[in-house]
Amino acid sequence: MIVRDKKVAVVGGGPGGLTLARLLQLKGAAVKVYERDTNRNVRVQGATLDLHYESGLKAIEAAGLMDAFKATYRPGNDRYRVTDEHAVIHYDEHEKESTGDFGDEWFRPEIDRSPLRDILLDSLQPDSVVWNSHIVLLERSGNGWNIIFRNGSTAYADIVVGADGANSKIRPVVTPIAPVYTGVTLLVGNIPDAEKNVPILNALVKGGKITALGKCRSLFLSEKGDGSLDVYIGWKAALDWASSSGIDLTDNMQVLAWFKEEFAGWDELWLELFDCPEAEFTYRPLHGMPLGLHWETQPNITLLGDAAHVLPPNGEGVNTAMLDALNLTECLTNGKFTELKQAIAHYENQMFERFTEEAETTAAMMEWMYALNARQVMIDMMSEMPG
Ligand SMILES: Cc1cc2nc3c(=O)[nH]c(=O)nc-3n(C[C@H](O)[C@H](O)[C@H](O)COP(=O)(O)OP(=O)(O)OC[C@H]3O[C@@H](n4cnc5c(N)ncnc54)[C@H](O)[C@@H]3O)c2cc1C
Repeated sequence: MIVRDKKVAVVGGGPGGLTLARLLQLKGAAVKVYERDTNRNVRVQGATLDLHYESGLKAIEAAGLMDAFKATYRPGNDRYRVTDEHAVIHYDEHEKESTGDFGDEWFRPEIDRSPLRDILLDSLQPDSVVWNSHIVLLERSGNGWNIIFRNGSTAYADIVVGADGANSKIRPVVTPIAPVYTGVTLLVGNIPDAEKNVPILNALVKGGKITALGKCRSLFLSEKGDGSLDVYIGWKAALDWASSSGIDLTDNMQVLAWFKEEFAGWDELWLELFDCPEAEFTYRPLHGMPLGLHWETQPNITLLGDAAHVLPPNGEGVNTAMLDALNLTECLTNGKFTELKQAIAHYENQMFERFTEEAETTAAMMEWMYALNARQVMIDMMSEMPG
């Protein structure tokens, strides 16, 4: 095994990095994960995730974690509704008898991000994760790398894998290619105790998810296991919207006033979202790596997940990050390669190929999702899906 007796540093303890650490440890490699969060109890933000048969679930299976996953996933949370701007339901998976089961290729079970992280963390050898390790610099050191953290500590590794997400600090060491703004921004919010705080919308979500599409804008709601509701509100905005709009996102009344103007013609029922003082909003301009992603392979450093190929949310991000981890582990441990660089090149080529297809679909999605006929396109696509 080409990584025998080598120190592997995985930078970033997201789903991609932790899956890689688990899979490599199963093969006997020496792995440390350097994560900027101060400890494992830091809240993991973001809506529930659906894992896919050919990627996320495949990695979970290879990691020997399917039983833990089955004990933790959220049956029924995958049921989707598509509405218009008046919350009239045009497509409803609650009317379907079943959305499938494990073993069905189209079954996409949902799990909250924190429990997924817990499953992966619990599977690692003790002290595998070095918390409070915000990497700021990477320097070549002999045949390996010296990693420098914000808290002043340093670490040496023979191989570095950047799994540090969309704003990766490792990426510039591997490639000058950087993500590009798509023209769409999301206002991202979380409403605690949705049953109490947003009863009308909570009933509409019905334990699953809603995408509302109308007037070239989108609104997505998703129930989480802690009873809160995640909200993504999408529209075409200037990159500097947050500063140029002058809105104080900590003041929900200002956010409400903005929504009424930007989403003029949308039903008043959505305004409930801004009525809850504990609701928190932030914003996220959506970026994606450009089509034709490719770089020259280096002998002892690579990227995976969003660090390598961030795209606007398309339902695949966590899944491809976990599949990257599986592919990279296979290349590093299957005995087919005599040199590290060959193994990394093989992994990266698979990744680039996958990206090309995904990036084209995602670019098309960003077009139709913010076009006037978005809702019909989405309903047609969902109706064609098996299951
Ligand atoms: C609004 C939104 C909705 C989404 N919805 C979905 C969805 O429904 N399904 C789906 O599959 N995907 C979804 N995605 C995409 C998904 O979140 C990402 O693709 C996925 O999390 C990528 O995993 P990762 O492990 O590569 O990176 P991340 O999950 O970003 O993890 C990176 C880790 O690195 C750590 N880190 C960052 N910088 C440093 C540093 N300097 N030093 C040390 N550690 C660092 C972070 O704290 C984090 O733990 C969504 C994304 C967004 C923005």
